[in-house]
Amino acid sequence: MTIPGHFGYSTAMIQGLRNRFLNLGRRLLPTPPDPVVLSDREWDRLRIRAPFIETLSPDDTETLRKRIGQFLARKTFKGIGLDLRHWQCHLIAAYACLPILHLGLNVYRDWRTILVYPDTFVPEQEWIDDSGVHHQAVVPQAGEAWERGPVILSWNDVATDGAVIVHEMVHTLDAGNGEVNGFPPLPDEMSARDWSTSFNDAFASLCVAIEHGHEPVLDPYAATDPAEFLAVVCEYFFFAPAYLRETMPGVYRHLCDYFQQEPHLRAAEIPSAMPVTTADDGDQG
Ligand SMILES: [Zn+2]
Repeated sequence: MTIPGHFGYSTAMIQGLRNRFLNLGRRLLPTPPDPVVLSDREWDRLRIRAPFIETLSPDDTETLRKRIGQFLARKTFKGIGLDLRHWQCHLIAAYACLPILHLGLNVYRDWRTILVYPDTFVPEQEWIDDSGVHHQAVVPQAGEAWERGPVILSWNDVATDGAVIVHEMVHTLDAGNGEVNGFPPLPDEMSARDWSTSFNDAFASLCVAIEHGHEPVLDPYAATDPAEFLAVVCEYFFFAPAYLRETMPGVYRHLCDYFQQEPHLRAAEIPSAMPVTTADDGDQG
């Protein structure tokens, strides 16, 4: 069978790309704007709507609140066919900041725009990206991330499962070395070779299982290509950590090192759905 794409590069290429993009990042990133400050009421509402927050340690909870303020200040939200409220942006920001809780906002680089549609099915759309380039395309998915922005989300999917946001944000992290291919820029202390071996093996096993008609251990969408594999395993990592740790221990360990988090210590399973009773219940902001 042919496995599309790959997770590996030569070490020299990786180092070259890493240096190039680190330098590029330093040149392009402007002085960060002042973070948005959530009021205590907004924060309390957000904690109910994003139940994963309750599983975080007190230190991580404080860090998340800080990251959310930074994210809201640096990114622009646009509702398309949707009157987007502040509380909805807060919810998206909360999930978007979970992967970068200990990495900081700069790993999200300079893309700015998050487009939010009301629902999954969207016919052909036109938009202008952060570089001023005009695009026209059919956008049928629950979410989508482009290398230079925007990130596109469907509100109904976000409210049903915030893991959709983490999935798209992982694509933007993956794009940090110029290609969305399941191989994000790794910190110096991590072995690119070990990462590639673990991810290639796990991806190949999943593809073989599906090809032979066996029950796949992950959502079969992960077998689409290495980029989708990474995004899907990250959904499991943050919201079904005990399961991923058991079924793909090598991949799980690499993700712990990469994100500097060990979600299985928070809970075996971590909720990612917004309680329906909290949808727009009187918040005018
Ligand atoms: Zn994807």
